[in-house]
Order: sequence, then structure tokens, then C-alpha cells
Amino acid sequence: MSEKSERVKCLIVGSGPAGYTAAIYAARADLKPVMYQGLQPGGQLTITTDVENYPGYPDGVQGPEMMVDFQKQAERFGTDVRFGLATAVDLSERPFKVTVDEKHEILAETLIISTGASAKWLGLESEQKYNGFGVSACATCDGFFYRGQTVAVVGGGDTACEEASYLAKLCKKVYLIHRRDELRASKAMQHRVMKAENIEIIWNHIPKEIVGDKAVNGVIIEDVTSGKITRLDVEGFFVAIGHKPNSDIFKGQLEMDDAGYLITKPDSTQTSVPGVFAAGDVQDNVFRQAVTAAGTGCMAALEAERFLADQD
Ligand code: NDP
Repeated sequence: MSEKSERVKCLIVGSGPAGYTAAIYAARADLKPVMYQGLQPGGQLTITTDVENYPGYPDGVQGPEMMVDFQKQAERFGTDVRFGLATAVDLSERPFKVTVDEKHEILAETLIISTGASAKWLGLESEQKYNGFGVSACATCDGFFYRGQTVAVVGGGDTACEEASYLAKLCKKVYLIHRRDELRASKAMQHRVMKAENIEIIWNHIPKEIVGDKAVNGVIIEDVTSGKITRLDVEGFFVAIGHKPNSDIFKGQLEMDDAGYLITKPDSTQTSVPGVFAAGDVQDNVFRQAVTAAGTGCMAALEAERFLADQD
């Protein structure tokens, strides 16, 4: 460890709605929170466009703009917001040791984990090969590059439908490839997809291979009912099959389920280690909404405050 350790009352790792809400409450409770923003400051909402279901914005708001507001509100009450990624933790005793960017050690009396979740990939070799050359997991980030072209989206949930609808406004044609014969997405999202004239749903198919030369020019798909293989000519391929919680550094130290979601006590954000709280998508495989993440962020800060008060 090259630098001297720093001691803080409340350390927050992750900067989505859960982290910033925890920061607002912790700062107002005089816990002088320090937040490390992680790899994607602002979290998943920074790669989305319209947010229409967050209360308080009657006309909707752009995701990135909303996260700038969250940050400003957290900083207004004194949160020390820093760039940096928690790369290792030792939760075996208090204060907890958290290493940031593999060099800076923080000793934290309480820890709030709000590291969120990241997009899942199909696991095809060609998906990695063409990542950034036609393959993407974020239509709002990369859709612009495929204006007037033909693209495919894989998945059948709200994310896939949202991405397909977004791309339909930019692209000539959008194939939505889904492995079943019904969508998992909410009715409102399904309706939006069905209404778009240039979205074609390819039911009961899975992608087998993404093909191209320097960049993607097609996808080979298999009909799961008949085994028949066909090819779709596409220039872009968007993966939208769900998310994986960002909890790898807590493996072996905190209880988690098989998918890696941190386990918290009922009606609480308390993890299996007293003084460590988890909020937002890293512990929520059910609701996964900005507003529910913010709610659990508030709970985590209140619980951290009570935990510290009980130690005195
Ligand atoms: P979901 O888990 O809801 O959906 C994932 C989709 O991908 C499913 O249709 C699933 O198929 C399919 N899938 C999973 N693995 C594979 C695979 N290996 N190969 C092919 N297909 C696969 O994830 P989402 O990201 O869509 O949504 C997560 C949560 O976020 C949900 O609660 C959703 O409601 C919410 N959300 C809300 C939005 C909004 O309100 N604006 C926008 C985006 C998300 P199958 O159906 O067969 O399991």
C-alpha cells in the first residue's frame, strides 16, 4: 500500500440512484460520506434516454441529466464525490478496509454498497470479436452509428423492447430476436414495439454466430423449435438480455444468491456483515427501478446512521 489509509464514517461505493440517495441522507445526518463513483459514474441511467416513470418529472427527464441532478444534490450537503473504483475489500473486521484503484486504502466505519448491475452478454466468441465493431449492449450509446441501416436486438424484456423502439426511430429496419413466442416486457413496452412498422419480431430464435469481415454484416440464427438455421443481414447487433449484479469483489465475504445478488435482511439493507449495507440493483433482482434503488439508498443511509449511534 503506497499511500496512508484514510478513515471515514460512511463510505459509499457506486453512484447510481441508490448511491446518491444514500449520500444525500448520510450527508444530511452529518456522516460526512465519501463516495467512489465506480467505472460508470451515474450508473445505468447515464446510458438511457427518456426516463418517464421517476416521480417529480411530469414531462420526463433524460437519464444523464437526472444523474447530474442527483450528484449536485448529494454534493450540496457535503458528500465528497470522487472518481475511483473499489478493487478489493476486507470486511472481516471493523473498520472495513476498502482498496480503491488498487492503491488507496480507506478504513470505513460503515459501508454502503450501491454498485448496481451490468449488461449480460450471450457468451458467443464472435460477440467479443465484434464488440465495438457492430456489437453493442447499449442502443442509446451506439444507435447513432446505425442511422438508416438494419440492426438486430436480442432479448424479450423491457430493455430489449426499449432498445428496439429507440433504434426503430434511427434505423431502416430492426429485427427483435427472442427465444420464446411471447415477450416478457411490460404491456406498454410491447405495445410500442408492435406499433412500430419497421420492427419485425423473430420469435423462437437464438443467435448462433455474429458474422462479418472488419465489422458485422450478419447474424446466424437458429429456430429453437425446428433447429433450422438462417441468416439475417444486419450491420448492428444489440444484446439486451438482462443484467448481472456487480458484486464480484464481495465474493466469500458477503452472502449472495447464485446469480450474485447480495442478500439483505427482510425490510432492511443490512447484509450478512453488520455495518455493511447494500442498496439498489446489486441486491434487487425483482424491481430494478431507479425509484426503488433510490428508496433502498435512503434505507441504507438511515440504517448506517442507526448502526453508528448504537456503537457509541
Ligand atoms: P429481463 O431479465 O426482464 O429480460 C431479459 C430477456 O432476455 C428475457 O426476455 C430473456 O428471455 C432474454 N434472455 C436472457 N438470457 C438470454 C440468452 N442467453 N439468450 C437469449 N435471450 C436471453 O431484463 P431486462 O433488462 O429487459 O429488464 C430488467 C428489469 O428492468 C425488468 O424488471 C424491467 O421491467 C426493468 N426495465 C424497465 C424499463 C422501463 O420501465 N423503462 C426499461 C428497461 C428495463 P426469456 O423471456 O425467455 O427469459
